[in-house]
Amino acid sequence: GFKGGTRLFVDLKIWEDLLKSNRFLVFAGPCAVENLEQIIETAKIVKDSGAVGLRGGAFKPRTRPESFQGLGEEALKYLALAKAETGLLVVTEVIDEDSLNKALPVADILQVGSRNMQNYALLKLLAKVDKPVLLKRGLAATLEEWLGAVAYLEKGGNRKIILCERGIRTFETMTRNTLDISAVPLLKKLTPYPVIVDPSHAAGRRDIIPSLAKAAVAAGADGLLIEIHPEPERALSDGQQSLNFQEYEQLINELKPWVHVA
Ligand code: PEP
Ligand code: MN
Repeated sequence: GFKGGTRLFVDLKIWEDLLKSNRFLVFAGPCAVENLEQIIETAKIVKDSGAVGLRGGAFKPRTRPESFQGLGEEALKYLALAKAETGLLVVTEVIDEDSLNKALPVADILQVGSRNMQNYALLKLLAKVDKPVLLKRGLAATLEEWLGAVAYLEKGGNRKIILCERGIRTFETMTRNTLDISAVPLLKKLTPYPVIVDPSHAAGRRDIIPSLAKAAVAAGADGLLIEIHPEPERALSDGQQSLNFQEYEQLINELKPWVHVA
């Protein structure tokens, strides 16, 4: 059965304070948690960059069943250790009731992936959780449909929402998705929630991620969700769109004149 928000891990006061500060919300980390060393090493880089949170997939909704599906509970253990080591907020994706129950004791922010933006059963469960939800845009969802998903969370009582634009499907094939930059100012007008951008899944390629990240900042985004990996060419998922540590640090340094990354 569903356990609800009984095992509160994040201090929600920290969350409220974070939103009141004008700190730019950077969440970085690997697409998937692959082993303990990888996530600890990455978490230290993320912490040193001034980011607020560590992302890392434990339950991966992969396009094909033979692809790496994530380490599940083992990954959650590693994320808990990375959190203990760095104090970063942990963001991880949940895909169903079982993964939600497992992630609740560890995750500070629960990610809803693009493929699940219209999974209304999942949204109803998350509406009852006393933790922030990072709601990604569906891969072919209009802003109206995205706002419908927001309404499901709100109706059930959860108004701790971060909206994440991650690109939408268009006819263009040189990028994995097309970053809809208009979504940023529009959602900021239409909702009271932080709007962040994931340039990694929008681009699907490493080379243009800094440009998209800067465009997001110029458009008024409140933060970024970025995939990074110690050795992108050896990543078990999304290596082609993951920055290495040096590329990531350079990007954050380039953003610092424009936004307050702590
Ligand atoms: C992810 O963040 O690794 C992910 C699966 O993203 P999306 O749901 O945007 O495809
Ligand atoms: Mn990914």
